[in-house]
Amino acid sequence: MTAAARPTVTFDGTLEGRLDGRFASELGELAIPWQAEEAPDPRLVVLNEPLAAELGLDPGYLRGPDGTRLLIGNLVPGGATPVAQAYAGHQFGGFAPRLGDGRALLLGEITDAAGRLRDVHLKGSGRTPFARGGDGQAVVGPMLREYIVSEAMHAMGIPTTRSLAVTVTGRRVLRDSLLPGAVLTRVASSHLRVGSFQYARATGDINLLRRLADHAITRHHPDAAEAGHPYLALFQAVVAAQASLVSRWMLVGFVHGVMNTDNMTISGETIDYGPCAFLDTFDPGTVYSSIDEAGRYSYRNQPVMAEWNLTRLAESLLPLLHEDEEQAVAIAQESLAGFRRQYSAAWSAGMRAKLGLQEKLDDEVTSPLVDELLSILQAGQADHTSFFRSLGAAARGHTESARSLLQDPAAFDAWAGRWSALAPDADAMDRVNPVYIPRNHLVEEALASATEGDLDPLTRLLDAVGSPYAERPGLERYASAAPEDFGAYRTFCGT
Ligand code: AMP
Ligand code: MG
Repeated sequence: MTAAARPTVTFDGTLEGRLDGRFASELGELAIPWQAEEAPDPRLVVLNEPLAAELGLDPGYLRGPDGTRLLIGNLVPGGATPVAQAYAGHQFGGFAPRLGDGRALLLGEITDAAGRLRDVHLKGSGRTPFARGGDGQAVVGPMLREYIVSEAMHAMGIPTTRSLAVTVTGRRVLRDSLLPGAVLTRVASSHLRVGSFQYARATGDINLLRRLADHAITRHHPDAAEAGHPYLALFQAVVAAQASLVSRWMLVGFVHGVMNTDNMTISGETIDYGPCAFLDTFDPGTVYSSIDEAGRYSYRNQPVMAEWNLTRLAESLLPLLHEDEEQAVAIAQESLAGFRRQYSAAWSAGMRAKLGLQEKLDDEVTSPLVDELLSILQAGQADHTSFFRSLGAAARGHTESARSLLQDPAAFDAWAGRWSALAPDADAMDRVNPVYIPRNHLVEEALASATEGDLDPLTRLLDAVGSPYAERPGLERYASAAPEDFGAYRTFCGT
């Protein structure tokens, strides 16, 4: 066969016959076949056309009546078995043995145009057997928040689930008031969570736990299969993926807000954007979520909480690590210790990049410089994103904008003198310090307008955050700090 005649996968633009049902068939104990609730009047609010193309889906079809019904699970493609997934989870430290998809469904897995297997998933598709007291619904604001923030994260190169579409259902959903119901169509490399392993472990069925681990290895960490101890290698790969992920969050000032073990993936993708937000002024103790009274998931606690969650994963995996529990614990502890090291290395390297400093510079030179800058930033109550971006100009000799963001620029001047002497690379800095992030006041504006039916602010915000690093004329508003009267920001869990 010549290269030109290589077989290629061709798609007809729909999902007909393309959904795999691999999770459902390999891990039936964790999957309840279920149907999405019928929506009275589905209307597409936003469709991610580039992502649709990646998946081999035709945007024209998805915008039509059948495509829109497909996006909310009301038209089930041939061969598909939608399921609600079972998982457990520690929520704010307390163990819930049976959470699962209360208002979500996995439609199935598809192979995308690049040959990768990806979950197509619905959120807000109606009550399932896991719904407990919930109504199974989602409302349009929080689903659009997930769409905006996940796509912004993706544009910044941070691993995340993706958002394919938000569709309003035509149903009114009671929250503080009656709000438009909506379904988010989400795409992920999988929806395996730390909580999935906790659930499998809690069943006491070691064979199920092993099959789950094998499934995770195949889908996410295939190198582990070649290791001397595949399950230990799986655990180490998750530790590494999370150390890298959380360092990326910290470097852009992202606060996830609800890092429960059911909201932490095995793949290392960010998942479940609920009460998340980006730092405005730099304050490490920042908490946005209205339900996080103790500040468990504050900005600065995120690496600590990631490590805590990974400890829960290790506990779940113990029977696969060694038949003797004491030895299993010792093995797990050794790998867990790698988290701090890897997190610190990733964060320090990222900070060096934000400051445009060459990798070969000694840590003893760069680390005090970083620490001092963060103190200046905090004392000066500077806008986190604007300040790091303004350092690019400072590296080119224009320090006015960085100075103007600080309440007392004198300390910065002394710092900048030492920093400039290390010849920071301004162009490299502009490739890692975003200009456009989903600023809290802009997100609120976009969600409020969209809920009222005006999609313009949403479209403009998505355009800005879709290319976060290249400064564009006319988008100044999207690069500016919140107005003074925006006040202290509070977010609410993604209901
Ligand atoms: P979350 O905080 O969104 O990660 O959700 C935690 C758990 O609550 C998951 O098991 C969800 O499926 C479930 N849940 C959240 N909201 C609802 C709802 N409105 N109806 C049913 N279940 C829900
Ligand atoms: Mg969740």
